[in-house]
Amino acid sequence: MYKIMTPGPTQVAENVRLARSLECTNPDLDETFVEFYKETCEKISRLLKTKNETLILGGEGILGLEAACASMTEPGDRVLVLDNGIYGKGFADFVSMYGGIPDLYTADYKNTMDPEALKVRLEQDHDYKYATVVHGDTPSGMLNDISRICPLLHQYGIMTVVDSVSAMFGEPVETDAWNIDILCGGSQKAVSAPPGLTFVTISDAAKSSMNSRRTPVASFYANLTTFRNYYEEKWFPYTMPISDIYGLRAAIDNIEADPDMLKRHAMIGEASRKAVREAGLSLYLESGFSNTVTVFEVPDQTTDKAILETMKQDHNIMLAGSFGYLAGKVIRIGHMGSNATVANMTETFAALDATMEKLGVPLNASMEKTFRSQFPS
Ligand SMILES: *Cc1c(COP(=O)(O)O)cnc(C)c1O
Repeated sequence: MYKIMTPGPTQVAENVRLARSLECTNPDLDETFVEFYKETCEKISRLLKTKNETLILGGEGILGLEAACASMTEPGDRVLVLDNGIYGKGFADFVSMYGGIPDLYTADYKNTMDPEALKVRLEQDHDYKYATVVHGDTPSGMLNDISRICPLLHQYGIMTVVDSVSAMFGEPVETDAWNIDILCGGSQKAVSAPPGLTFVTISDAAKSSMNSRRTPVASFYANLTTFRNYYEEKWFPYTMPISDIYGLRAAIDNIEADPDMLKRHAMIGEASRKAVREAGLSLYLESGFSNTVTVFEVPDQTTDKAILETMKQDHNIMLAGSFGYLAGKVIRIGHMGSNATVANMTETFAALDATMEKLGVPLNASMEKTFRSQFPS
């Protein structure tokens, strides 16, 4: 088994793995499961600072994004798609698939989205039902400031669908204070449960918009309104993956018991960027660095494949390359959730130092030493 230091899926703690092996009841018929599901959803809402209802859906992160768009979009709806990364742009596909008209607002792919520039754009045109916003665009490591972007959109009467799958719990999220209508998360990133579940928080405004649609949602599985009375009727629209949810609950309990989680991510993110810079390697971004992933350019002397293979073969550590326009160009270290410990990152940087040396990439400083020196011994 490799030590996975990828930006999702992440390492899964033993108590989460054990929770997935607990004895199962029939989740369709046993009311104690409905209570357990609701309680887990309420814990997630609390951690994400919202009074809004959370729903856990049986499907991976992408299902949450698609369900938000499927449920919110009616044919002909104009949707503003904020794009400064692969996931940002990708939302346009979900919008058009369900008959909406995506309007791309494309910004610089190397810098965090500028709310002032967005405001200028909104002054010209703000006739949109909702906007899609990516909090952490993982392929480049881009962090967008949803604390400013979402309230701004709200001021213009535009609802927001936010993909925080890879950012939440590694970066602050205040759903209500920031006027986020639908917030999407996944089990396999900072939450540190295995892949397989997504969850969404839904505001009253988004609910009433979905409930007053003129046309039916063009999907069953991705239709959030099918959960409308699940608790009162003790009836889920489809059988819930009970073992996955037991695991998710343990992971959520771990987060609840870890008040330093955000601070740890901030320190590790900062220390990692410093280690990469001082070694003379180039971070891919110019601004908007997410504290959940560090992305650096593949040095001229080598290839992404050589780095990834050497890390696996010689050090048993799995890092990630990237995809789309970044394929072959960058290496990503995922330091979110259980990956984000000083010990994991020290080991990773020591292995990267050795890998770079083996591949003939000269470094100005040891990444391990720079990283480690930023924490007390
Ligand atoms: C991981 C991730 C998702 C979930 O998608 P998968 O690629 O299927 O894992 C969605 N959005 C972002 C930003 C992610 O990083």
